[in-house]
Amino acid sequence: MTTRQFVCPGCGATNRLPAERDALKGKCGRCGEPLFTGHPLEVDGEAFRAHRRATQGAAVLVDVWAPWCGPCRTMGPQFAAAAATLEPAVRLLKLNADEEGAVSAELGVSGIPALLLFRDGQIIARQAGAMTANQIVAWTNQALARAPA
Ligand SMILES: [Zn+2]
Repeated sequence: MTTRQFVCPGCGATNRLPAERDALKGKCGRCGEPLFTGHPLEVDGEAFRAHRRATQGAAVLVDVWAPWCGPCRTMGPQFAAAAATLEPAVRLLKLNADEEGAVSAELGVSGIPALLLFRDGQIIARQAGAMTANQIVAWTNQALARAPA
């Protein structure tokens, strides 16, 4: 069993968790905030990079969206609902493409909503267009099963 590592949503500290600990009940060793809130985390570029770099033993799924984008708004609640099923094996993040245009371009996002799935910092799958919560969960699990651990 490997140690997992998560970034605290509250203070950004990196927390290591033994495999046998329930990450959903884990609290940050620095600030005491829960490591998982049951909701996708809104991140800026800096926080996104921290999660991408420091998350270990779990995947990172990013929804790149913008407030003016109708399909993005449609998918928002679906993405949030998917968190209940996917956490803590997958950390769900939301990145605003308008506010973080450089990061979005860096990731090669050309159309939104876009989903990007990372493991060990590497993109292992990407998908454009709105999906339902069930589709998001199925797509994520298929991509994780396909990609070598
Ligand atoms: Zn913290």
